Amino acid sequence: KSDDGLGKNNKPNVSFNDVAGLDEVKEEMQEIIDFINDSEKFHRMGAKIPSGILFHGPPGTGKTLLAKAVAGETNSNFLYSSGSEFVEKYVGVGAKRIRTLFEKAKKDSPTIIFVDEIDAIGCKRNIDSNNEKDQTLNQLLVEMDGFNKDSTVVVIGATNRLDLLDEALLRPGRFDRHIYIGNPNLKAREDIFKVHIKNKPIDTSVNIGELSKKTHGFSGAQLANIANEAAIIAVRNNKKKIDIDDFNNAIERVVAGLEVKHPTVL
Ligand code: ATP
Repeated sequence: KSDDGLGKNNKPNVSFNDVAGLDEVKEEMQEIIDFINDSEKFHRMGAKIPSGILFHGPPGTGKTLLAKAVAGETNSNFLYSSGSEFVEKYVGVGAKRIRTLFEKAKKDSPTIIFVDEIDAIGCKRNIDSNNEKDQTLNQLLVEMDGFNKDSTVVVIGATNRLDLLDEALLRPGRFDRHIYIGNPNLKAREDIFKVHIKNKPIDTSVNIGELSKKTHGFSGAQLANIANEAAIIAVRNNKKKIDIDDFNNAIERVVAGLEVKHPTVL
């Protein structure tokens, strides 16, 4: 997960190849990539580049990774922020942060702004209220409405709770494309494992198909975690390669970790 601070610019070294098992989603995002890479062509035709895309679905499924890959594929700057960073006690502070974020994005365009947990600022507004949260959301709407063709800025928001979002945020010209990103199926789990063992020495006892069958219901983040834990366990046991016992122990560890964090889930 990116922990780049607000306003820190970077160009992620992540490509579509690093994102496994989301073929349909990748196809849909390819259109956005074409827009960004050849924005002039679309402008000439009078087409407006989609300015907001919403990724929704359970945690750890690659939403941040995919947003980074879009930046990587288009050589765009990537500005990471989390909705909670804009939630402030004092009226106007969150709105000012939004303004600063968009100013920076436009200055260094093309830019992908990623807002994780967008529900923290984007939840339904109170009628006639003028509280801090509503001002912040209003500022976000103003910024998205104000995109012009001098700069290419695409905002990708992510949420686990699409149902909480204010309808104003979902209107055309704002976050009008909604893409569901769910937990990986068997084939996708295999592909995700493959990405995460690519640079690791793997023993012949390891059967990725079997591991994928065993990990039904796991998210991409959990599978990445298993591959990493298995490597750590292999090092601790002075092994030259990661074998199937290390993977099985890693699965147990990740499951045990889940039980501690969410005792009712499993
Ligand atoms: P959250 O909703 O909690 O913010 P997220 O959906 O943004 O989660 P990421 O932060 O993108 O999830 O995923 C965490 C890590 O899990 C990634 O950095 C990557 O290592 C791994 N991962 C998740 N999904 C995939 C995938 N489809 N392909 C490859 N790796 C993945």
